[in-house]
Amino acid sequence: ERTASVSGSTSTDSDRTPVRVDSQDSQVSDTETITDGHRWPRQNSLSMREWDIPYDELQIGDEIGAGRFGKVYRGYWHGDVAIKVLNMEYVNDEKTLEHFKMEVSTFRKTRHENLVLFMGACMKPPRLAIVTSLSKGNTLYTLIHLRKDKFNMNKTTIVAQQIAQGMGYLHAKGILHKDLKTKNIFLENGKVVITDFGLFSVTKLCHGNRKGDSLGIPPGWLCYLAPELVRSLHAHQAHNEDLAFGKASDVYAFGTVWYELLCGEWPFKGQPPEAIIWQVGKGMKQPLANLQASRDVKDILMLCWSFHAKDRPDFIRLLNILDKLPKKRLARSPSHPIHLSRSAES
Ligand code: ADP
Ligand code: MG
Repeated sequence: ERTASVSGSTSTDSDRTPVRVDSQDSQVSDTETITDGHRWPRQNSLSMREWDIPYDELQIGDEIGAGRFGKVYRGYWHGDVAIKVLNMEYVNDEKTLEHFKMEVSTFRKTRHENLVLFMGACMKPPRLAIVTSLSKGNTLYTLIHLRKDKFNMNKTTIVAQQIAQGMGYLHAKGILHKDLKTKNIFLENGKVVITDFGLFSVTKLCHGNRKGDSLGIPPGWLCYLAPELVRSLHAHQAHNEDLAFGKASDVYAFGTVWYELLCGEWPFKGQPPEAIIWQVGKGMKQPLANLQASRDVKDILMLCWSFHAKDRPDFIRLLNILDKLPKKRLARSPSHPIHLSRSAES
C-alpha cells in the first residue's frame, strides 16, 4: 500500500514542486536558498532559529585580528570558538539583514572535514556575529609568506587535495566560496580547514567599499580574482553591482593558492594593482619560466588560470589530476624543497 500512496502523491506534487536550480551560474547559492525558502518556508525559519545564538551567551575574549568583516575575537561558547563580529556601521536596513541571514543559512548546510565548523550566529542587529570553531593551527598565508616555510611536492599535493575536497563539497552543495585565499585556509596538524566561504557579499556590504575613492583593494587579494571578476571590478565600482562570481572563479583562486604553495610567493609579486588588473583582464598570466616543476604541476596552474571560465576544470577533475601526480617517495630529505625536485619525473 506504500507504493500506491507514494505514486499517488508524486503525480500531484510534481506539478507544484519548483525545479531545484543546479546551474553553474554565479547566483547558485542565493537562488538555492530562495528555492528552499519557497519550498519549506516554515521549516526554513525554524531551523534558522536553531542556529541563533543570544549575544549575551558569548564570552568574548581577545581580538585575533581584523579583516574586511569587522573583527574576529577568540571566545568561549561551550568551548573555544572564533567570533566574527560584523561591522554594521554602514548598514541598518532590512535588506542587508536578510542578506546576512541568507548567507548564514548557506553556512549551516556544511559538514565536511576540511571546512570550518559553523556553530551558530547572532542575528539581532546591531549585534551580528558568526560563531565557528577556533582554528588552532596557522593559516597557509602565515606559513608561506610570513614563516617562509617550504612545502615539498608531496606536502603541496596533500594540502591541495584537501582544499579541493572541501571546495568540491561546497560546490556540490551549490555554495560558492568567493574568497578562497591562503588567509582563509588553516593547517592544523596536517589537516586543511577552509574558512569564510560564502560570506563575501555580506562583508562587502559591511565595509562601505563604495565610498572609497580608490578601488579599495586589499593587498594580496587581486591575484585571486579571475579575469571575469577583474573586468567587472570597474562596473562594480560604478554601478555598485555584485561581482560575477562563479564556481570557475573559485577554481581560478585555487590556482593561485597552488602557485603560492609551489613558489612561496604571490603571482605578479611587487606589481601595482593597475598593472595586475591590466594583465589579468587581457588574459596574461604570471610567467612560469622560473618555476622548477614538472609539466603536470604547471599544467594545473594553466588550467585553473584559463582566461575563459568554461575552460577551467571543476574540483572533481582537479582531484583526479592531483591524484595522478607522481608520488615521490621521500628517499632523500623529508623537507626537500620544491625548486630542487625537478627530477621527480625522470
Ligand atoms: P582575513 O581572512 O582577510 O585575514 P578575517 O576577518 O577573516 O580576515 O580574519 C581576521 C583574523 O582572524 C585573521 O588573522 C584570521 O586568521 C583569524 N581567524 C579567522 N577565523 C578564525 C578561526 N576560525 N579560528 C582562528 N582564527 C581565525
Ligand atoms: Mg578570513
